[in-house]
Amino acid sequence: MTGADTRVVVVGAGLAGLTAAVELATAGADVTVLEARQRVGGRMHGIPMSSTVIADGGAAYLGVRHTELLAMIRENGLGLASTEMLGDSTFLLSDERTTTASRVPPLDAVALGDLFDRLESLVAEVCAEAPWASPRAEYLDGLTVARWVAEELEHPAARAFFPMFIGEMMAADPARISVLHMAFYLRSGGGIRYLNAFKGGAQEWRIDGGAHQLCEALARRLGNRIRLGRDVDAVEQIGDGVLVHSTSTVDGMASEHRADYVVVAIPPLLAQQIEFRPGLPAPRATPATGRGCAVKVHLSYPSPIWREHGLSGWSVSSDGPLLSTVDDSPSDLSAGILTGFVTGAAAASFSALSLPEKADAVLAHARKLFPQLPAPTRCSVTDWLADRYSKGCYAALFGPGDWMRLGPTLTEPHGRVHWAGTETSLEFFGLMEGAIRSGRRAAHELIYGADVAADSRKATAQ
Ligand SMILES: Cc1cc2nc3c(=O)[nH]c(=O)nc-3n(C[C@H](O)[C@H](O)[C@H](O)COP(=O)(O)OP(=O)(O)OC[C@H]3O[C@@H](n4cnc5c(N)ncnc54)[C@H](O)[C@@H]3O)c2cc1C
Repeated sequence: MTGADTRVVVVGAGLAGLTAAVELATAGADVTVLEARQRVGGRMHGIPMSSTVIADGGAAYLGVRHTELLAMIRENGLGLASTEMLGDSTFLLSDERTTTASRVPPLDAVALGDLFDRLESLVAEVCAEAPWASPRAEYLDGLTVARWVAEELEHPAARAFFPMFIGEMMAADPARISVLHMAFYLRSGGGIRYLNAFKGGAQEWRIDGGAHQLCEALARRLGNRIRLGRDVDAVEQIGDGVLVHSTSTVDGMASEHRADYVVVAIPPLLAQQIEFRPGLPAPRATPATGRGCAVKVHLSYPSPIWREHGLSGWSVSSDGPLLSTVDDSPSDLSAGILTGFVTGAAAASFSALSLPEKADAVLAHARKLFPQLPAPTRCSVTDWLADRYSKGCYAALFGPGDWMRLGPTLTEPHGRVHWAGTETSLEFFGLMEGAIRSGRRAAHELIYGADVAADSRKATAQ
């Protein structure tokens, strides 16, 4: 870039935008962060369950390979809480309830082994640095996962298990994502075993007290550089600068912010809604790009009572709404928190229910899963599908043709406009780790130049 006092506007105060803003401010840039919501953190959001307990309504889990995230947690004085898997798992398959020591559903082991072998070979085919350049990229990108399942999986157990697996891993409806996206996502996150594991895997820890605290800590470092309630609707490049147009979500007043550069750090479906002048040479999302299908539910108990019954709280169901549950109790055990995930195809119909209907459906399901537990003292539902400033979660889902069309230009600056956000990261795409890496990359493009940023990214990856 850029000398001291270069003006940079960052659009979006999620983890990616905040990371970019802190790096740029530290390098001496004059940074302004425009955030549409009345809070920072985006998809990292604390849900108060009592006066002392906060649950993760959005992102929660991390593991040892999330090196940038772990370093940032340490630097900001936060701690980790282990995810506990003490006791038996509960399975509710076609309304039949079983409990077992294994985390894998009691389905034909050979059929599930064959499914994982097939998935592993797809994952091995993907070129991690450029999925669109993988050997069969065009074919795999044109094929939906639902079609692949219909053609490849013959055993009923594999067919029954697959939607549960992909719902939990990617919050995806198999009919809406391409095989290339599934294989890339599993590879980018560290492989199937790593992504799926608690101990030693991507779900080993949570940030003690809630993941939102990390964004709040970064926001404190930025102080009044952050403007909340500013919905950016247009980005106009004129002469040697940029005008960023936003509308107040409080009083509807329009504002203009002048900058030398802009970092757009929002999910692709939202970036696609911004008017860019001149227009973008390639879209940020297409009609095939989907919302991640996740609704998160929290049930509060006086303590993790399921442990007294020899249960871990981990459950998997073949039918919704709660496709899986996990024990997310605070580390001081001052309460018992069961987190439920409504994901994949089940999430859209659940999202359409009224709040009381959602709560009724969840409580009925919880009674079937854990008949020995009393009713929870509180039920909270966080519906990301309906969320205007996220448009689904965990991350955007690339549909058929998207990787070939969007992939090559994901990080390519458009003049003075640079891109961040977890969906622009080829490493840990869709995760908090990907968000941080994307924010650093975008900031380094401005501080050191795009080529140096790309080289340093390669060096980090090695
Ligand atoms: C239910 C759920 C579970 C998840 N689980 C995990 C997990 O266990 N582990 C993990 O690593 N990750 C998980 N994730 C994903 C993780 O939350 C994201 O990868 C990460 O938080 C993305 O950060 P970001 O900054 O790229 O985007 P965001 O967090 O989406 O930030 C974008 C920001 O931009 C703002 N914005 C949008 N449009 C505009 C506009 N026009 N003008 C101004 N501001 C705008 C938004 O309000 C938001 O604050 C989960 C997400 C969800 C929702």
